[in-house]
Amino acid sequence: MQYHSTRGHVSGVGFIDAFLMGLATDGGLLVPSTIPSLSTEQLEAWRNLSFQDLMLEIFSYYTNEEIPEAELKEMVYASYSTFRDEAVTPVRKLTDQIYLLELFHGPTFAFKDVALQLMGNLYTYVARKYNKQINILGATSGDTGASAIEGVRGKEGINICILHPNGKVSKVQELQMTTVQDSNVLNLSVEGNFDDCQRMIKQLFADVEFKNEHHLCAINSINIVRILAQTVYYFYAYFRVTDERPELTAAPLHFSVPTGNFGDIFAGYLASLMGLPVGKLILATNENNILEQFVNKGLYKPDQFHTTYSPSMDIQVASNFERYLYYVLGENAAQTEEYMKSFQEKGYIQIPEDILAKVQQEFAAYGVLGEECLDTIKKYHEQTTYLLDPHSACGVKAAEQKVGAQEVVVSLATAHPAKFNEAIELCGIEQKFPEQIARLTDLPTRKKLVDGTLDAVVAELLPFYNA
Ligand SMILES: *Cc1c(COP(=O)(O)O)cnc(C)c1O
Repeated sequence: MQYHSTRGHVSGVGFIDAFLMGLATDGGLLVPSTIPSLSTEQLEAWRNLSFQDLMLEIFSYYTNEEIPEAELKEMVYASYSTFRDEAVTPVRKLTDQIYLLELFHGPTFAFKDVALQLMGNLYTYVARKYNKQINILGATSGDTGASAIEGVRGKEGINICILHPNGKVSKVQELQMTTVQDSNVLNLSVEGNFDDCQRMIKQLFADVEFKNEHHLCAINSINIVRILAQTVYYFYAYFRVTDERPELTAAPLHFSVPTGNFGDIFAGYLASLMGLPVGKLILATNENNILEQFVNKGLYKPDQFHTTYSPSMDIQVASNFERYLYYVLGENAAQTEEYMKSFQEKGYIQIPEDILAKVQQEFAAYGVLGEECLDTIKKYHEQTTYLLDPHSACGVKAAEQKVGAQEVVVSLATAHPAKFNEAIELCGIEQKFPEQIARLTDLPTRKKLVDGTLDAVVAELLPFYNA
């Protein structure tokens, strides 16, 4: 298996090089050059595998045999040994129609752990095996940063710098990042919002000379390995729901996905391209609803940034959108590049009717606004005692809106409510914090405040990477 860019100027890249490249050097995003197409029999042969073994089967298609099987197995098992649930990503029934796929049992209590604990081990492996210096650079709306830091803190040959928007992440999210005292970790708290952070990261990665000189590596979902790891739980959830309801192997099983960067939902799309029988992918957003507008009207146009109850989805420019665009355009790299160039110039993309029809065959979308999010948390807490976090609540609300009366949906529960007590408190609900989160408030913190300019970021970055 090799990887190539959505813009067509980079191809024949191996697995480890794709992992290290992050953003493709032509400014596009890397995608697998062929996607395995699994038959029903092949799928069924995986039904009883553990999460870890399912991941090994899926990765066997994508790693190009560049990592010896035994070593990959060791890494995969080590990555999920820190998860608090034996199933890694267990499925729970919320109602007759809605199943929750709980993705928050990793060390930082959000779904980012599923991919990033593995990526941390992969970076450690690459640093050791190829004697490479790895300087991770990433932007976070809160959860990616904590998870990536947890994955590589204190590891030899690896430094990590994370940009987060100052004052725009939850208290727990901030503490999870800034209480880490290892000297290979730098937290930059940027005056601006997540889009500003992500734009600067993308600029630094697009400067190929700078990127190579400073060994920059990506942990954001521009990195294809993150997407590949996230496909695994779509398969796992399908098996668990159809174990319980075998009749659903013949009916479409929908997935509702709270998304901001189009990363998690793209992983679901990739799973469907691999042959997983997915009904509709329901795209759940908050007030930052440009992706909803794209699915409903074919217009992709970042607009005014909103601060919401679900801060991890406070994103306007969805960096993974380009991957989907590439596929919906029939894997036409020239056309994808044209659209992205015109997006740079005009600030929007409008796709034609025939392409929009394809989008709407695959996706439905719903943007959850304001109180609707809190009302959803309250409703399920009252009716079932289950406490949804505000992101998972967006997924559940979108599922309610978009799924027919007799249909069944898996809604992705992307974070533990303890990470977002700001919203839970507003619901008038008092929650009990897990011990790992409760103890954070007493720890000393470290972070550096910088203004929202590339120069200010680089001025902090260089001495840190070169120390
Ligand atoms: C990151 C995040 C999301 C959005 O994920 P995307 O990769 O942007 O689709 C949703 N919920 C939570 C809790 C997150 O941390």
